[in-house]
Amino acid sequence: MYLKTNFSIFILKKSKHAVETNNLSISWDKQKVLNKINLKLYEGEKLAIVGPSGSGKSTILKILAGLIMPTEGELRIFGEKQTYLRLDQTNPPDVRLVFQNPALLGSLTIEENVGFILQRNKNLSKKFIQAIVKECLEEVGLFNVERKLPNELSGGMQKRVSFARALITEQDLDKKNKPLLLFDEPTAGLDPIASSRIEDLINKTNKKVNGSSIVVSHVLSTIERTSEKVVVLYGGKFRWAGSIDEFKKSNDPYVFQFRNGKLEGPMQPKEI
Ligand code: ADP
Ligand code: MG
Repeated sequence: MYLKTNFSIFILKKSKHAVETNNLSISWDKQKVLNKINLKLYEGEKLAIVGPSGSGKSTILKILAGLIMPTEGELRIFGEKQTYLRLDQTNPPDVRLVFQNPALLGSLTIEENVGFILQRNKNLSKKFIQAIVKECLEEVGLFNVERKLPNELSGGMQKRVSFARALITEQDLDKKNKPLLLFDEPTAGLDPIASSRIEDLINKTNKKVNGSSIVVSHVLSTIERTSEKVVVLYGGKFRWAGSIDEFKKSNDPYVFQFRNGKLEGPMQPKEI
């Protein structure tokens, strides 16, 4: 027993955090949307963040993606303290956010949309970029769409394009990094079969890039199929954290209310 305990301490020390926040807060006007959040995600872990609309789930992802800055507290990604927005960083961490809506650029072809990041690197030939883009599109089940514009594809196909974009970054040139993948409501509004496809795609993407992931979702199948751990966000704080198996069984009032869609419970709409 003694040895085992020591061993686990050793393992804990060895594994690195992909994300570590210390009393992270953000306020909009006078509303404190996140209130001293402490989140630790080890490299390789897969986490789901759940909570009612407006609880700040997208806000957490935007902070991790470097699109907005917290008002207070500390954020470390892959051990590095984050003090600037991503665009202002000279050596940014490899964090890839797949938005709720595919957010493709309408006037660019699918090939240009997916290869966007690689095109910035002038050392790469057009042929090389085209080959990588084709590979990533095929990886998500899209063939011969390179020359098309986003509005020529169905909504589901556009979603796949946004996943292909998450597969492709400068990562392709430097395999030593393990990226952090962020998915914001990837299956919201999809039918159950389309959801299953996207869930498979999340798992496939995760496997290919060998990274860590955070999925924000209120779809139970998505939470259960793509994540190992769950946290419940409400009122600016994490109210519950546990494994996916605990999440399925727990009688914690927050988990119970969320899982069963109950009106009664600790999570109530704000008074107006
Ligand atoms: P969720 O993704 O959980 O639905 P969000 O993170 O989008 O919630 O938003 C959390 C809260 O922060 C909401 O009350 C929202 O109105 C507010 N909020 C988000 N972004 C902004 C912003 N740019 N300016 C002002 N308020 C914002
Ligand atoms: Mg959101």
